[in-house]
Order: sequence, then C-alpha cells, then structure tokens
Amino acid sequence: MRLTIVGCAGSMSSPDSASSCYLVQADGPDGAGGTRTWSILLDLGSGAFGSLLRHLDPAELDAVVLSHLHADHVVDITGLDVYRRYNPAGALGPVLVLGPPGTDARVAGLTMEEDLSALDSAFTFAEHVPGQVVEVGPLRVEAFPVEHPVPAFALRVTGPSQDGTRDVVLTYSGDTDACDALVEAARDADLFLCESAFQEDRDTVRGIHLTGLRAGTIATAAGARCVVLTHLPPWNDPAVVHAEATATYAGPLELATPNATWSL
Ligand SMILES: [Zn+2]
Ligand SMILES: [Zn+2]
Repeated sequence: MRLTIVGCAGSMSSPDSASSCYLVQADGPDGAGGTRTWSILLDLGSGAFGSLLRHLDPAELDAVVLSHLHADHVVDITGLDVYRRYNPAGALGPVLVLGPPGTDARVAGLTMEEDLSALDSAFTFAEHVPGQVVEVGPLRVEAFPVEHPVPAFALRVTGPSQDGTRDVVLTYSGDTDACDALVEAARDADLFLCESAFQEDRDTVRGIHLTGLRAGTIATAAGARCVVLTHLPPWNDPAVVHAEATATYAGPLELATPNATWSL
C-alpha cells in the first residue's frame, strides 16, 4: 500500500498546499487474470484536483471516499465531475463515491445540478455504514463515526503491503475531536494519518478538532505504529503541534507535506 499526500492544509488551502486529499494505492488482481494498481482518494478538498494531476490520471481512479462533507474535504469533486463527464476522449463513466448520508445531494449542490440523475454519468454514490467493509480491488475500507459538528467518519483502509507479504492498515482520522471510535479505527494501524488542526491553550472549544497533544494520546491508546500529522491550517506553526504530539506519543512522528509518499 502506498500513501501520497495530495493536499494536507487544514480548513482551507494554504500557500503551499491544497486542502485535504490523500491518494492510497495498492496492487492487486485486475479481475482478468493479471494485476494492476488500484487507486482511491480519501477526500477531495479545495485545490486538490489540480494537485492530483501530478500523481494520477483521474481516469484511473477507482473510488473517492469522503470523511465528511465540509468544503475543505469535498469541493474539488466538481473538477472530477467535469473531467469525467466532458473528457475530450469521451465520457469516462461513473466512479464510486463513498461518503456520509447526503453525499449525492451535496455534490449536486456543488455542481448546481437540480436533477440528481444528471450525475449518474460521473458518479455512483454509496453511503458509509459503520461495521460494513467496502472492497475496492485489494483495498478494504471501513468507516467509523467520529466527533465533529457534522456527520463525520474516520476511515480505516486495509490492504496488501508493498512487498505483498501481509496486510497493512492505514487509518485517516478525517476531522474529529478525541473519541473512542477514533481509537478503534486506528487500532494497531501501520500508519495513522491524524488531523491536528487545533493547538493547546489557543483552541479551547471541544467537539470539533484534535490538538497535537490529543492526536498523540489517541495514537498511543490505539497502538499506532507511525503517525503523520495533517490538516494544519495556515495559521498554525507546524512545530507547535509536532511538539505537542511528541509529549503524548513516543513512536515515529512526522508532519504531512504535499507530494510526500509513504510505502507500507
Ligand atoms: Zn477540515
Ligand atoms: Zn470538518
């Protein structure tokens, strides 16, 4: 399994990065006796579609999995809509979009389609069902309801390791404050991609985001083997949340940066 950071800015895009978008890929059977690379996106936030073009032809995308429907996680699905529907090479057909209840209506609103069926040529929508695993080629996706002002899910992706010898787990927090479901989603994860939008002593409101300190606490409780902090708004000093997290998590800890990749 491979992770590529397409966009990691939190709550809005930044001078250096689009907002949330993460490309997860793994090789697996193509259904015709061969193998191929399977590609899913976790979120597609503001500015991310252009950045995605550096890493993947969107025609080869197998699914978009949305943690929640806030703008910084979903609005660039409008670019994917145009790319698939009006491609000069011919319409690409629908791609799976897996998200919270109401994802289809949210996308219709963004694309200004009054008739939902107009989106059928670009997307096939499905809703997260906690406890249910969705398979996309060799990748298995499970959604865990977490704590945020709108319905939001942490996403646990299980799939083959790069060397093909075992299954590995990548967990993405989405946007959330600390909660038991997030610990469960990140249990023994090989890589825990965790938001840290807030800073201790500055952001005291609860129920919305994690601080670096709380992200580290969750990672330790979950037994995550490696943590990548993400979703940092441009007004954050990354060094602050990194230092907070090292106070509560002793394992390998890095900050997400655009175009960075990890092989699991
Ligand atoms: Zn966000
Ligand atoms: Zn949010």
